[in-house]
Amino acid sequence: MAVGLQQGAFHRALRSTDQTRIVWPSRMRRTLAHAMNHPIYLDHAATTPMAPAAIEAMTKLLPVVGNPSSLHAAGRAARRVVEESREEIAAGLGCRPGDVVFTSGGTEADNLALKGVFWARRDADPRRVRILSTTIEHHAVLDPLEWLAKHEGAQVELLPVDRQGRLDVTALRQAVEREPESVALISVMWANNEVGTLQPLDEVVALAQPHGIPVHTDAVQAVGSVPVDFAASGVDLLALSGHKLGGPVGVGALVVRRELSVVPLTHGGGQERDIRSGTLNAAGVAGLAAAVTWSVGHIEEHARRLAALRDRLVAGVQQVVPDAIYNGADDPDQRLPGVAHLKFPGCEGDSLLMLLDARGIACSTGSACQAGVAQPSHVLLAMGCNEEYARSSLRFSLGHASTEADVDALVAAIGPVVERARKAMAVSRT
Ligand code: PLP
Repeated sequence: MAVGLQQGAFHRALRSTDQTRIVWPSRMRRTLAHAMNHPIYLDHAATTPMAPAAIEAMTKLLPVVGNPSSLHAAGRAARRVVEESREEIAAGLGCRPGDVVFTSGGTEADNLALKGVFWARRDADPRRVRILSTTIEHHAVLDPLEWLAKHEGAQVELLPVDRQGRLDVTALRQAVEREPESVALISVMWANNEVGTLQPLDEVVALAQPHGIPVHTDAVQAVGSVPVDFAASGVDLLALSGHKLGGPVGVGALVVRRELSVVPLTHGGGQERDIRSGTLNAAGVAGLAAAVTWSVGHIEEHARRLAALRDRLVAGVQQVVPDAIYNGADDPDQRLPGVAHLKFPGCEGDSLLMLLDARGIACSTGSACQAGVAQPSHVLLAMGCNEEYARSSLRFSLGHASTEADVDALVAAIGPVVERARKAMAVSRT
């Protein structure tokens, strides 16, 4: 996407604002100018521009005062916004409004699901100390699991995936059947954020349900990209995040079956069924609801368009760099439509990223939350790739505003960029 041109409302608003009255710190001015002129944005899985409907819903409410917990008219109006947003999100995701717990984003939703359910299930039966998950989860899941193991005595088992990044269901079955009464919960992501592989959640639920084991899914990359129906999926908890689906940053939700006990992480005003205290962000929640409705409402058309762009990107890159390898699921229906993860033999992914950035093309070596930390991707390592392989891959991710021109610009740049990165690597080895 040509960010500067197509982020429509935001940029028009920014440009039309009387800039003389805003004193931007000089560093922020440079950063803003860079972002607005950055011509090719291929990192939508890290964060994607807000949908016009979400911008409209939010900006309308930003000047409106009212704490949704207050009893006066202003408070009741804010409460109405929150409850109508809850209903809208429930309609988009196939859950009940009462299942939606608003959070600050995906990371908080994952932490709440894992810690909250672990504590509640262990309190009910001290034998329940095992958590089954996968080696390819986002750090928003892996790190709370590590914390639970270190501080709370959780026994975390990370189950393997195959070469395409798909959970080994047989390994999960064996782990469950070994001692089902000791399993506190299972957590398997809906779609992987690096290679885009969809996970066999129906099989996970089929293994868990007979034993009454709750299933959590991190659906941060899935909602708005592939059809997600909470009730039909059979999962008990689901995390989503506004800024991945056309909503605002800093707003998300944990969908959690009302009947399930969850111990809160934060204590205070008792908002959100006492599971998540803290004053609700009415404008943000309205932006999230508008983004869910918009993205879910356009899902088929988006998916078709993004899959075609993705295929154009992969074919174009492989024509210029014939030894580039496309990572992830072989079956295109088992991938996120907007993600193309490619290995470029003989290159450092970080060098490629910087060389592309210098040409105005933004992409990622993996999850944005890890960017800057030069480590091989844990996802690719889990898929059986060696360190060299894992270090030489890039993720290009497309979004609602991506165009053929964006893809073609990448294809035009990638040849010389790969050549330079290969030379740099060869020099560093001599
Ligand atoms: N889970 C996945 C799969 C993600 O891709 C991300 C963000 O990259 C998160 C969780 C964290 O979400 P948030 O940025 O809203 O905290």
